[in-house]
Amino acid sequence: REEEHRLLQNGDSLNGAADWTLLFWTTLAVVVPVIITLWCSVQRSKRKIHMKDFFRKSKHGWHCTDLFNKPTYCCVCQQHILQGAFCDCCGVCADETCLRRADRSLVCKEIMAPSQTDGTLEHHWVRGNVPLCSVCAVCKEQCGNQPKLCDFRCVWCQTTVHDDCKPSLSDGERCELGEFRSLIIPPHYLHLVNKLRRRHPDEYSKLASACGSGWTPVLVLANTRSGNNMGEALLGEFRTILNPVQVFDLSELPPSKALQLCTLLPPGSVRVLVCGGDGTVGWVLDAIDTMKLKGQDQFIPRVMILPLGTGNDLSNSLGWGSGYAGEIPVEQVLRNLLEAEVVKMDRWKVQVASKGLYFRKPKVLSMNNYFSVGPDALMALNFHTHREKTPSFFSSRIINKAVYFMYGTKDCLVQECKDLDKRIELELDGERVALPSLEGIIVCNIGYWGGGCRLWEGMGDEPYPPTRLDDGLLEVVGVFGSFHCAQIQVKMANPVRLGQAHTVRLVLKTSRMPMQVDGEPWAQGPCTITITHKTEAFMLYHSAEQTDDDDESSISEPPSSTSLMFHPYPFFCSL
Ligand SMILES: [Zn+2]
Ligand SMILES: [Zn+2]
Ligand SMILES: [Zn+2]
Ligand SMILES: [Zn+2]
Repeated sequence: REEEHRLLQNGDSLNGAADWTLLFWTTLAVVVPVIITLWCSVQRSKRKIHMKDFFRKSKHGWHCTDLFNKPTYCCVCQQHILQGAFCDCCGVCADETCLRRADRSLVCKEIMAPSQTDGTLEHHWVRGNVPLCSVCAVCKEQCGNQPKLCDFRCVWCQTTVHDDCKPSLSDGERCELGEFRSLIIPPHYLHLVNKLRRRHPDEYSKLASACGSGWTPVLVLANTRSGNNMGEALLGEFRTILNPVQVFDLSELPPSKALQLCTLLPPGSVRVLVCGGDGTVGWVLDAIDTMKLKGQDQFIPRVMILPLGTGNDLSNSLGWGSGYAGEIPVEQVLRNLLEAEVVKMDRWKVQVASKGLYFRKPKVLSMNNYFSVGPDALMALNFHTHREKTPSFFSSRIINKAVYFMYGTKDCLVQECKDLDKRIELELDGERVALPSLEGIIVCNIGYWGGGCRLWEGMGDEPYPPTRLDDGLLEVVGVFGSFHCAQIQVKMANPVRLGQAHTVRLVLKTSRMPMQVDGEPWAQGPCTITITHKTEAFMLYHSAEQTDDDDESSISEPPSSTSLMFHPYPFFCSL
């Protein structure tokens, strides 16, 4: 019996030991992978910080990629590589191990450098990874079609030559900066400006004569927050073609700072290409107005728009379409810039003086597109406030669309705008206008409204003569309600034309109403709104066919940021 007892005890302790072993191994199996994962991510973030520091100090504009989008060869070890880094200025590519050597041994596009003794520029060749379908400048055969690091491209003029043909380029061959020489700021221009004793516009003009006649340098200002990731890609493409110094990322530098480069260039010659939504254009135009206030009138640039995002009515009114998604290559964008004509555009000042707050300064906004009070502003406001409250909920495009649709059809919300005509007074150039029964008033500067709809001309047998951007007149129309708005959008109805005027005054007598200026909505209590002429901007106009409708793809996407123009009825449009 004792024997039995001892055996049992033994078995128990054995069992206990087995339990502990099992527990130990289970824990190990769970903990070890967790530790390894954590360690790896710490290492990765450490490396990232390290790389960031390296990228910041480097003269190249390095960008890492996990997969190159075309066959790529390392410029150092000449191996075929799938991932690594590339410079978006000079196009040098390298894998991670060769990156530091590439950075040390290969020179990037120099933004400021002296010219040759005869005042000309030498080609700056980079070997390998030439663009697909490039042609050799010597033998006119296709270049870069061998599966290895081969052939050369000049980073300034984009000329390509075969390895074998390069020696037969004559020694006297100089770099003429290629097709876009009239838009590029050559490195020697900035070098000379930097050496000037007396910085004066006359001196700049003298230096500019060496850059050829008809030299109109362009500054590219891109908003990488507009329209998905288009801005980022565009920055790289423009840096490849132009001098990297003339390409600015507005998420890093505000337009007021970027535009200071204009003051180092001949007066009246500079063009600015704004890549972004109508909101970004307004931001740049405000910065230009500030230049005028600073007495830099003579340096004011002409502005062209490359619209990012959707439903950009200002851009559409100037012939640049309502949204760019890479349909044409950037080279074509620059060709369009060269052909564009200069037009003047009125800009307006919207003063909002709240009733009863006599001691507070009135709110002052600048307006390029339109001011509105009523259903379209309400919809923008509802969408805006709900997105502010629960931003994560609005990160999905499909949910955005559903919510937008809900606001467009929900009657109870629209009731807020009822009987606007009894609560508001409208004065055009000091004369009171008798209002019919209305729910909304829209004051337009430009021809398009609501993402591609011609509001003033309307449709039908006798459309009105088109509005002008520079006539110093605003067009004022009324809408009967949100359903009427939607009908106007699908071109089944016209708004009520209330008149044209140089000055518009609106007096809201009672209650709060939704209002918006250029897509920025707010709720406003009793107040007086005065819209007067502010300045004229010099814009570039593209005289190609304008689009009356957004295409299918651009309608399906509500704007991704509030700085983009509001596009009131995207859903109705696609019906
Ligand atoms: Zn390598
Ligand atoms: Zn580079
Ligand atoms: Zn060249
Ligand atoms: Zn060749």
